[in-house]
Amino acid sequence: MGKNMKCLLSFGIWRPTLRRLPTRGAVALTFDDGPSPETTPRLLDQLAAAKAKATFFVSGVRAVANRDLVAAMIEGGHAVYGHGWEHVHLEYDPQRAVDDMRRVEDELSRLRPTPPVYLLRLPYNAGYARAAMHQAMAAFHPNFQFACWSHSTFDYRIAECCRSPGDLPILCRAAADALRRSRDLDGGIVLMHEKSFGGPPPLNAEVAPVLLPMVLEVLAQRGLRSVTLPPLEAVRPLYRWILPTMSRLPDPFAG
Ligand SMILES: [Zn+2]
Repeated sequence: MGKNMKCLLSFGIWRPTLRRLPTRGAVALTFDDGPSPETTPRLLDQLAAAKAKATFFVSGVRAVANRDLVAAMIEGGHAVYGHGWEHVHLEYDPQRAVDDMRRVEDELSRLRPTPPVYLLRLPYNAGYARAAMHQAMAAFHPNFQFACWSHSTFDYRIAECCRSPGDLPILCRAAADALRRSRDLDGGIVLMHEKSFGGPPPLNAEVAPVLLPMVLEVLAQRGLRSVTLPPLEAVRPLYRWILPTMSRLPDPFAG
């Protein structure tokens, strides 16, 4: 356990929380905040060229506006889950989070069956460490798991850190190099964004299509496949009582 990690205790309330893959030899690339006509078609082409699969946590408002892009994700063999309706922070409003997840999944279930185990990632990763959210979400799906990550690319910071568009590939390269240097990349879950809600336009739509080929190159060099995020099958018996919180990774673009 990392030195910054804490544990939260509950009376048997916590649901499973994913941070790493159960097996070695692969990583799971995950994209939040899509779909977007500016990013999704390019990302799907890049993933297909590398024979890589990814997991998309799509925003409800963007999914209804771009149903064809969600269909293309599914067609490409990628996994698709909801990422709330609007991109609002619902840490303290579990009922709204449940309502929003129902709304986005109503939309997604027209395009693919609702998964028997639902991987849940709310905007800003809200609620993964709140017992009230774990309890409430059972009303959305009886069998859900919070999908956290082991490696953030901090890509949502890249657009705001660019002083000119020429900085973008340099900062993307730095983000990919951080993955390249990571000793525990094997089996990791990587957080990326499509047109991050946090980044300033128009550059926020340019980050993912520049960064993804660099990340795929790192995976190829390390001999790692990119797979869709699998739900946890074997869960430690104490998981319902003890929740390790996520360790804070250093932000390479800070300061
Ligand atoms: Zn998000």
